[in-house]
Amino acid sequence: MKDPNCLFCKIVECEVPSEKVYEDATTYAFKDINPKAKVHVLVVPRKHYANVAELAAADPGLLAHMVKVAQRIADREYDGAYRLIFNTGEEAGQSVFHVHAHVLTGEPLEE
Ligand code: 5GP
Ligand code: ZN
Repeated sequence: MKDPNCLFCKIVECEVPSEKVYEDATTYAFKDINPKAKVHVLVVPRKHYANVAELAAADPGLLAHMVKVAQRIADREYDGAYRLIFNTGEEAGQSVFHVHAHVLTGEPLEE
């Protein structure tokens, strides 16, 4: 399931370095290289899915687990408050086609 051309597959495999904040058997979470909030973490499944729609169709339990991981990070960083974003499709701003949840937290966020 690993895509040899996928940046986030390489990060999960530690072929590309990242600042890990959490990992378990099915997910990996690391700091975004260009943070848009005090805490900006990307949560990805180890397995390659192009976007959240593909993941939701193939493995909804894994998607739910990613949300739990996001919650856990926010519990640690900001009393459980966070914003979760899945950019889906190039037109919506998706630039890496390995599904990732942006977790923005650590400070009050503008609407
Ligand atoms: P997207 O635009 O696909 O929703 O989000 C991709 C995110 O990946 C962006 O916020 C971008 O800053 C982040 N990103 C891109 N390349 C790297 C990298 O090599 N390392 C890390 N940690 N983040 C990256
Ligand atoms: Zn991938």
